Amino acid sequence: MELALNDADIAFQSEVRAYVAANLDKKVSEKVRLGYGVEKSETDEWTRILNRKGWAAPHWPVEVGGAQWSAVRRHLFDIELRSAHAPELQGFGFSMVGPAIIKYGSDEQKNKYLPKILNAEMSWCQGYSEPQAGSDLASLRTTATSDGDNYVVNGSKIWTSAAELADHIFVLVKTDTDVKPQLGISFLLIDMETPGITVEPLLAFNGVRLWNQVFFDDVVVPKTNRLGEENKGWTVAKNLLGNERLQVSRVAENRRILGNIFTITREEQKRGIAFDDTFWQKLSALEIRLEALDATALRYLSKFDAGGSIGAEVSMLKLKGSQLVQAMDSLMFEAIALYGLPLDSRMRADGTGAIGSDYSDMVASRMYHHRGYTIAGGSSEVQHNIIAQAVLGL
Ligand SMILES: Cc1cc2nc3c(=O)[nH]c(=O)nc-3n(C[C@H](O)[C@H](O)[C@H](O)COP(=O)(O)OP(=O)(O)OC[C@H]3O[C@@H](n4cnc5c(N)ncnc54)[C@H](O)[C@@H]3O)c2cc1C
Repeated sequence: MELALNDADIAFQSEVRAYVAANLDKKVSEKVRLGYGVEKSETDEWTRILNRKGWAAPHWPVEVGGAQWSAVRRHLFDIELRSAHAPELQGFGFSMVGPAIIKYGSDEQKNKYLPKILNAEMSWCQGYSEPQAGSDLASLRTTATSDGDNYVVNGSKIWTSAAELADHIFVLVKTDTDVKPQLGISFLLIDMETPGITVEPLLAFNGVRLWNQVFFDDVVVPKTNRLGEENKGWTVAKNLLGNERLQVSRVAENRRILGNIFTITREEQKRGIAFDDTFWQKLSALEIRLEALDATALRYLSKFDAGGSIGAEVSMLKLKGSQLVQAMDSLMFEAIALYGLPLDSRMRADGTGAIGSDYSDMVASRMYHHRGYTIAGGSSEVQHNIIAQAVLGL
């Protein structure tokens, strides 16, 4: 496989770089650079800017408003955006439910939802996990009972990121409890304003609302809101998780963090801080790991573009990408040393900013936040099982 970029790829990179430089709000990119969350309105505005250019959904087909780029080109696009500290677009809409609607939705569903996702007029959250169903998702217990043209939904979903911001949720529900778990699941698209839905916050270690628990109490959902056939929701869900996982290597995110480590070490050196050989060796080792990950990701994405299927191999990318982010975070924390200790300004009662340089304020907070990568989107242990069985044939 040819890993070097061709002239068209290089021209594409330059075009993206110039467009982002000209259109991304500097205040927003500065927040991203320093690790602060951006407002939903800021992400929405950036989404609309990309959508006007036809770049909001690089992976969607052209006929529904996407750019329909190859996986390799999407990878390059992702790296350019991340390197410029652009906010991440809403993955639940663009990478999860959007592609599922494109594949399984009726024309009515496509017309209703896709344009609004593209233009940031509709935002989604993912209702999969339940208190008793995480890795073993098929054991979910939320039920949807048939009642004429409607379902009546009861149960609860947990760890629902961004439910407090979303106006819609996609949910896996049991529509048949008398069959093997995977055969009795359906996939519903639900308006969060529907009576009977309540959202309770779940706070992370630093008091920040990171997740929610969403409760469904006799929630009436029209059957026309079902995506795909009744009791075939597991197929939709598996396909959606595949979409989630195709770009899981976190190469772009790792490149952005590595760039931050270089900036921080340069700034710290200016303040008279010296880094010993061990530090530089660790930094070199991380850079080598990143290059290896990037080459491996490109190898699989090229295979996919050439019509090949990527199966369990993406578990390797997910595992290595998330582990690398965590290793990069640790080294960045080491680089700012004691300035990382107050964790972040939101934990200080007086709300003052960083005690060190501005870049040190969120380092610890991001580091702990990224611990969640071990679990989110399929835990590392489960990825190891998949690699052992499906890749190595053990
Ligand atoms: C940051 C973050 C955001 C999230 N956002 C969402 C969201 O928006 N929507 C949503 O639906 N969910 C979300 N989740 C939930 C996530 O999908 C689940 O946490 C995940 O599927 C694991 O499920 P669990 O928490 O029930 O843990 P369990 O499945 O109970 O696992 C507990 C431990 O046992 C291990 N384990 C489980 N099964 C096996 C096995 N077969 N072999 C070896 N070890 C095993 C796991 O690796 C883990 O260490 C989020 C999670 C995180 C961390």
